[in-house]
Amino acid sequence: MHSIRKRPAIDGDLGWYETSPSRHLPLGTRLKGDHRFDVAIVGAGFTGVSLARRLAELRPEARIALIDALEVGQGASGRNAGFIIDVPHNVDGGAADIDHDRQLFALNNFAIAQLRSLKDRYRIDCAWDDAGKYMSAREDGNLAALEHFEASLKAAGFPCEQLQGQALARRLGTDYYQAAVYTPGNVLVNPASLVRGLAAALPKSVTLFEASPVLAREDGPVHTLRFLGGTVRADALALTVGSFSAGFGGARNRIAPVFTYASLTAPLSEKEVATCFNGVRPWGTTSAHPGGTTVRYTPDRRIFVRNTFALRPALRSSDADLHAAWIQHRRSFAARFPFLAEKVLEYTWGGMITVTSNHQSVFRREADNLYCVVGCNGVGVAKGTYLGHFMAEYMNGMRSPELDFILANSNPGWIPGEPFKRIGAAYRLRQALAGAGGDI
Ligand SMILES: Cc1cc2nc3c(=O)[nH]c(=O)nc-3n(C[C@H](O)[C@H](O)[C@H](O)COP(=O)(O)OP(=O)(O)OC[C@H]3O[C@@H](n4cnc5c(N)ncnc54)[C@H](O)[C@@H]3O)c2cc1C
Repeated sequence: MHSIRKRPAIDGDLGWYETSPSRHLPLGTRLKGDHRFDVAIVGAGFTGVSLARRLAELRPEARIALIDALEVGQGASGRNAGFIIDVPHNVDGGAADIDHDRQLFALNNFAIAQLRSLKDRYRIDCAWDDAGKYMSAREDGNLAALEHFEASLKAAGFPCEQLQGQALARRLGTDYYQAAVYTPGNVLVNPASLVRGLAAALPKSVTLFEASPVLAREDGPVHTLRFLGGTVRADALALTVGSFSAGFGGARNRIAPVFTYASLTAPLSEKEVATCFNGVRPWGTTSAHPGGTTVRYTPDRRIFVRNTFALRPALRSSDADLHAAWIQHRRSFAARFPFLAEKVLEYTWGGMITVTSNHQSVFRREADNLYCVVGCNGVGVAKGTYLGHFMAEYMNGMRSPELDFILANSNPGWIPGEPFKRIGAAYRLRQALAGAGGDI
């Protein structure tokens, strides 16, 4: 029996969830009593929701349980920056491999098309915006990474545009950055609204349980999950629990959860928009430096800021962590928008990115009728969506070129256990953050 001791917490004020129009819609129920299902999926983020949808399509007769410790939209899937990224994204992703990049691009676009059609069909109000994405640099030392990124995009034939100086400042409403590479295919959303809308649109054969942390699991011919006041027994079990996978006995020595933090301001006033952002469309930028700041100007006229990394083996953030992040966010915000320096950061929260050693995800059968998908490395809105979809096909015995590509590229390197993991990860984090300078 695995006792699951590390369980998800709320980690601050969840800005996207709190401002989501669907926040008060009841989606699932709390799990009580004893239940029997054909398949249980633990984790209702983008990966679990996509897996549930595809499995229900493939096996309409199957009874499927989708279970989350929190409400849908309160996990990492609803805490992220809301970029649905089409181009291979990892700036430090190593040597370019054009064929590999094109296959990732195709899978990301498959996920975007899927999400778009569900958003349209079920009228999901998630501030969907085909805004594209900037990757920007302020520091001279980070311009080379931008050039490297642009060269790899061009080599693969992906559309992109380089912007500098005043042309860039006019697009963003700030002259903070020297240069940026713009890619048009990225989508920006309120991620909590999107994942909640997707969960609400699941077929009737999927039963959603929210606010229902799994406390323990037992293997056997039938898998058993234990809850406070209830159990689920299922023939097959899929774990899509992100950074909490190790506690379930999944993805052992393959993932390193890293906290990062985000803040969202109060909406800008009409006057602030008129004086500072006149004619500026909503936008989002990631940083040319992996330790740099992600920023968005949202359709509801808020500014979003994400930066700061922390290793927290307990898998939860302290008040001190959130306070430190808030201070850094204020600093990064004021540097970019000195004309808005008094603007209040209304929400500040933390969430985990599940990092692997080589950017590959865990996508595998762990044991008889036990499957695990985790390790989206900060790009899980698109990646979790396609991995969940193809995991359902894999569980159903299907094969396809896409599935072959995923399976061939799901071999994350070994990561040592504690305390070596913490020491090694802290060292790598320090290295990754060095040189970010004003791009934080
Ligand atoms: C601040 C931040 C910014 C990011 N920005 C982006 C971005 O812009 N674009 C992008 O693509 N990605 C981004 N990411 C990464 C993205 O959020 C993840 O890749 C994505 O959430 C992975 O989805 P998932 O469904 O695999 O896992 P998760 O979203 O982590 O879902 C796992 C679920 O499992 C549940 N769970 C865990 N333990 C238990 C238990 N014991 N019982 C029941 N349920 C349990 C959790 O509550 C959770 O809801 C960002 C992440 C963070 C934190």
